[in-house]
Amino acid sequence: MWKYKKGLYYESELTKYGAKNFSTTTFLGDMKNEKNRKNLLEKYFGSDAIICGEQVHNDNIKIVTGKYFGKVLPQTDGLITREKGVILAVFTADCLPVFIFDKIKKIIGLVHAGRVGLSKHIVSKAIDMFVKNFGSNSADIYAAIGPHICKQCYGIDLDALAEEQLKKAGVSNISNSKLCTYTGDFFSYRRNRTKKRMISAVMML
Ligand SMILES: [Zn+2]
Repeated sequence: MWKYKKGLYYESELTKYGAKNFSTTTFLGDMKNEKNRKNLLEKYFGSDAIICGEQVHNDNIKIVTGKYFGKVLPQTDGLITREKGVILAVFTADCLPVFIFDKIKKIIGLVHAGRVGLSKHIVSKAIDMFVKNFGSNSADIYAAIGPHICKQCYGIDLDALAEEQLKKAGVSNISNSKLCTYTGDFFSYRRNRTKKRMISAVMML
């Protein structure tokens, strides 16, 4: 279940199973701003050494470890790790942040999925990587979809596409925030072509 606390949303089931996570709102400011981002990350994770991708609307997903701390990985839209203490992050303003968690094997993933990435099946690919690289059973996987633009505001049902890819891959535990970035307290690229971004981040404890 998605819950709100002090300027951010978090998925409480993920947190309960040891994957501390959140997606921010406008109340915490632009997360492309280093000072804003550093303050938040240090408060929540005790470190601002996030690993993120360049986010080029492709379907490349990388498996990462602590050696990538503080790095922006080129040509990457999705990240997966089995290491505790590694912070994965994506920046969004309408696209979907999709958290993927194998709560038995303790593997976490975070994907930036927009219209183009979804058309390249980035969510399906992420689940495939969990299964092929870590032996995950899709029945043990829990997926959470953070704030994103809704069908009424965008004309395309992005979260339905993501859910379809998850279900086809055998993932039925899906927690969709159904929070719309266009109408809520979020940065929305479609609404005003803003360069400001929210951050979604996750770390296994
Ligand atoms: Zn909407």
